[in-house]
Amino acid sequence: MLNLSTLLEDGARNRPERDAVVFGDLRLNYTLVNMIANQVAGLLVSRGVRPGDRVAIACPNLPYFPFVYFGALKAGAVVVPLNVLLTAPEIAYHLKDSGAKALFAFTGSPELPLGERAWTAFGEVETCETYIDLPAAAGATESAIEGAETFWAALDGQPGEFETVRTEADDTAVIIYTSGTTGRPKGAQLSHNNLLLNAVGSDALFDKEPGGHDVFLTVLPLFHIFGQTTMMNCALYRHGTMVLQARFDGDEALDLMEKEGVTIFAGVPTMYWGLLGAKGGHDLAKIAATLTTAVSGGAALPGELTKRVKERFGVDVLEGYGLSETSPVVSFNNPKRRAKPGSIGLPIWGVEMKLVDGEFNDVEGEGPGEIAVRGHCVMKGYHERPEVNEQVISNGWFRTGDIARRDEDGFYFIVDRSKDMIIRGGYNVYPRELEEVLMEHPAVGLAAVVGVEHETHGEEIKAYVIRQEGAAVTEQELIDWSKERLAGYKYPRIVEFRDELPMTATGKILKRELR
Ligand code: AMP
Repeated sequence: MLNLSTLLEDGARNRPERDAVVFGDLRLNYTLVNMIANQVAGLLVSRGVRPGDRVAIACPNLPYFPFVYFGALKAGAVVVPLNVLLTAPEIAYHLKDSGAKALFAFTGSPELPLGERAWTAFGEVETCETYIDLPAAAGATESAIEGAETFWAALDGQPGEFETVRTEADDTAVIIYTSGTTGRPKGAQLSHNNLLLNAVGSDALFDKEPGGHDVFLTVLPLFHIFGQTTMMNCALYRHGTMVLQARFDGDEALDLMEKEGVTIFAGVPTMYWGLLGAKGGHDLAKIAATLTTAVSGGAALPGELTKRVKERFGVDVLEGYGLSETSPVVSFNNPKRRAKPGSIGLPIWGVEMKLVDGEFNDVEGEGPGEIAVRGHCVMKGYHERPEVNEQVISNGWFRTGDIARRDEDGFYFIVDRSKDMIIRGGYNVYPRELEEVLMEHPAVGLAAVVGVEHETHGEEIKAYVIRQEGAAVTEQELIDWSKERLAGYKYPRIVEFRDELPMTATGKILKRELR
């Protein structure tokens, strides 16, 4: 089986002149991106990086990301993408845990002093021998980080050709850190095969004609598996163009869609809310004319959101479901084929799903039960965590920590994350259902429901709500609205209004912090 970097090489062979990466005014064609990746591979080899060694990258969505990602893969190394919001001690933890030999880090900015943090972490981890600064100014050979070598200076003299190291299908290509259901972040080891087949399987569900020229708005962070597979690997697989956006902003995203003629967008639900809440001044008809595929995943997609996106942009939102541990795509609900509202759909080709109980026994019928997944997308296991691997993988089946129901046609419906479940007075309450009800209220922009400690009930249900701009609604009105629509043990007893909610870098609400 081929190395994952074949995605880029195939594009360079077939569409040498086509833009592979666009960032601001910078347009880089397939030939050039492939050439820089070759130089990165040569650089790594010259620094003693051998096949199987880990190479970490801490960088937002900038052209550096694909250069380093594919360069490291070509050298047979394992890429360890790091979340750009990590602190210095967290970066040090990831470098140690993965045993990274080299670190590429973006210098950052006063708001995001990523380079300073990475450089501090690097100083604490002896096993990491090479540090390459990815400077904020394109082409800069002097680093803003004192003592660090810059990317462009390091590449100087590296040839533009490189013979890609042959890898086996099951060799690890990428280690993605995730908290999973519990504990400190663990590294999910994804093989070349996992990632290649997931890109191909996801692409098939986009329902796009082969041979067209697709333009992907790549704003989902590439250090997270959702963006990495669907907005980078899929883009290269179909010889498309990645339009990079380093940080999500609804207005900027719409500007890019309009200017670049974006055809495929994928985001988490909060990004869709951001597109809907953009200030305006955009040619929506022009955007709708090119945008044919919109994908949502990473968190529950409220029915109300799908409706509003269809009204505004004329496009159906395809909901995907997956995890870091599953490369990520497990299932798709595709309205252009067979789909059901509110469902995460059917497993993608080559992937099986079932429901299990706490002891890993099959749950028959409707459930609810915990989703277990088997197939080409399932990780090899967490890096150096044999005891956890034994708990989460059995006979090839991986347990996800997500509770779902299944209907008679085999469609899965997520009830909630098992750890987000609230137990109020002995009743199990799944916040997601309440959030849907709250978001149907016209004055509600975003709602997050959590359990808070309570003397007699054990937990009480609390909703955090962001109001729609300019809308007025009181706590009591929202409590009454929910009470009319939900069973007595389920509706929220406390409502708190906020201007914003704590989010992960991927745009998922941080319920832990709200609790
Ligand atoms: P991550 O590993 O960061 O990609 O997070 C994976 C988790 O995101 C899953 O275990 C689910 O809890 C959640 N998730 C992903 N897709 C969906 C979806 N379509 N609906 C609801 N939750 C989702």
